[in-house]
Amino acid sequence: MQILNLDWKDYHMHSTNFSDWTSSIDEMVKFAWWLWFSEIAITDHSDIAMEKAFPILWNKWFPPRVNLSRWKNVFNDVNVIFWVEWDLVNECWDICSTIQWIEQDFIILSAHIWVYEWNSESITNWYINAIERFHKKIKFIGHPCNSRCFSKYVDIKKLIEVCNTYNIPMEFDATDLIRNNTDIEKLHSMLKWAKYVYVNSDAHSLYEFKHNREIAFKFLKDNNYL
Ligand SMILES: [Zn+2]
Ligand SMILES: [Zn+2]
Repeated sequence: MQILNLDWKDYHMHSTNFSDWTSSIDEMVKFAWWLWFSEIAITDHSDIAMEKAFPILWNKWFPPRVNLSRWKNVFNDVNVIFWVEWDLVNECWDICSTIQWIEQDFIILSAHIWVYEWNSESITNWYINAIERFHKKIKFIGHPCNSRCFSKYVDIKKLIEVCNTYNIPMEFDATDLIRNNTDIEKLHSMLKWAKYVYVNSDAHSLYEFKHNREIAFKFLKDNNYL
């Protein structure tokens, strides 16, 4: 197993500009510099996740996503990437890949229990189907060991095998660990057998951004993965 972001790079967090964090993109970018980060990816939720999980937010006005093309980091040298957290949706093999109905090129592939409409037992097949179709766009699999979502139903060995075949990294989600939303047994399987792993904050606040990855790295050290 190789961790791809041992240095100051975090590829999973959300903003108030487009989803459910507590700070704006500008605030996050300024804070990232203060924390020594060199690169961050802001990975807001897909349209369907917003509509189903945050109906109040869904009705809120958000700045038009197209205006991101006019945004530049004027504060510091942190490289800022904008991806989207895709959602596995239903038995028709649909995926929600849009923010403000705009297709996003690079993605985290995640499954959220409040979005997914089909039976939970189908989730492994769903992941595999999506990976086979979209592996060129998938940057990593988001929080596959999340016990609030589907870890109980995920055949983690099968998922690891398919990810390894396509060289797709899997995510160790630091916030899930801290919030006790992690299936520890499956996490160990992933850390032992996955070819590539990202350790990301999945932060929804500046506090989580600052602290959570550190705790995940401590877990890795305590368990002799580092
Ligand atoms: Zn997620
Ligand atoms: Zn997320």
